[in-house]
Formats: sequence, structure tokens, C-alpha cells
Amino acid sequence: MFSIKYLKRGYNDVLNILFPRFCLSCDKVLHHNEHDICHRCLSGLQLTGFDYRSNNPVYEKLSAIVNIESATALFLFDKSGVVQKLIHNLKYNNQPEIGVFFANSSIDYLSNPGFFNGVDYIIPVPLHPKKQRKRGYNQMTEFGKNLEKIFKVPYSEKILFRHIHTESQTKKDALQRRENVKNAFRVVKPGKYTGKHFVIIDDVITTGATVEACAETILNNITQAKVSILALTMVL
Ligand SMILES: [Zn+2]
Repeated sequence: MFSIKYLKRGYNDVLNILFPRFCLSCDKVLHHNEHDICHRCLSGLQLTGFDYRSNNPVYEKLSAIVNIESATALFLFDKSGVVQKLIHNLKYNNQPEIGVFFANSSIDYLSNPGFFNGVDYIIPVPLHPKKQRKRGYNQMTEFGKNLEKIFKVPYSEKILFRHIHTESQTKKDALQRRENVKNAFRVVKPGKYTGKHFVIIDDVITTGATVEACAETILNNITQAKVSILALTMVL
């Protein structure tokens, strides 16, 4: 017997042929029962499940340098390379839907307990305006906007500003990186934000120098500010 289920399935198959959707990580054509990421890539993605404040390498690394409330990373940096590929596509291939995917993937992990409890603003590590103009976007925008939607905490790119364009960090060691970005940021109208709690979002934490400089700029310029850090992943 002809059923609605088969009709729907057939319709989806036709849609898939006419308008194929591609895996955000490996670019393979998605099956009708796959969304955003193919099953194979999805199996390579693993949430860290870190506590926000203890037994957590991200918190331990960053809190040794700067006075933060909480810090964590969403996904394990893994040999499968799926996270790396997603972040690469997010950063250089302008695929904002990856930011949406990351935000949706983090709902359960960041809800229990609430990572955003008591948080007033979500802000990205800012790009220098010249770099942002060249790239055309900040790769954290969609992730941040979707966190705002999900957790009802405002996302703002107008609070922290990058006024010094630093040269590439890749060939520098931790100390040189720290020195390089120390004074690269400033807070716009710090008097407006007394006592506020900020979550800084970043894609990959390596030495942590950039995100530490952002946190320090906020703590040094805003009275009684608090800072937490959320990265997509961290190279351990
Ligand atoms: Zn895939």
C-alpha cells in the first residue's frame, strides 16, 4: 500500500538529488537521515565533558595566569581531525552554519550545570578591523549569536576591541606570544560594565596567550569584572 512515509522518503530523495547537502567537515554528500555532519565524522567528534572549574586542563592552564571564574573547551582535540577540519572551514571558508552546529551541540553540556548562570555578556576574541575586513567576518559570530539565542545571554562585538594587529603567532613560544599580544586589546566604555561577568569565546586555545590578554584587559579596565572562557577546542 502506498503510504505517506514512502511518499515523504521519495520526496526527500528527490530533494537530495536536486539539492545535495554536504558534510560540514568532510564535504561528502549527506544522506537524508544525516544533518550538517555525516555519521562517520560525527563519530569522531567527542565532547570533553570537563567540569568548568576543576579536573579540567583548560581551567588549570588559564587560571594559573589570569584570575578567571570558569573555563572549558567543548570538544576534544583529536587525531580524527574532525574538529580541526570544522574549525578550519569555519575560519577560512566562511561556513557560518558550523557556528550554529557548535552552539546546538553544546546545549546539554553547558546546561548542566549552567555555564552561563550569572553571566552578563558573551564576547568573542576580537580580530583587528583590518584583518576582519580582509576575512569579511569574525568566525565566532554565528556561534556567539546562537549561544545568545539558546542561553539568553547577550552577545556583543562592541565591548572588546583589538587595536594592535599582531604578527603571526605560530612561530613564537608561549612567552613571546604573551608579550606579543599583551597590549593588543582595549575595552570600549569600561565605565558601562562595572561588576559584569563576561564569557570570552575562542576557537582553538593553544598557548592561551591571546585569550589571557583579552581576560586581563577586561579585569584591568572594568571595576569588579569577572571573566570566564569557552573555547571550541584546546590543543593539550
Ligand atoms: Zn563527514
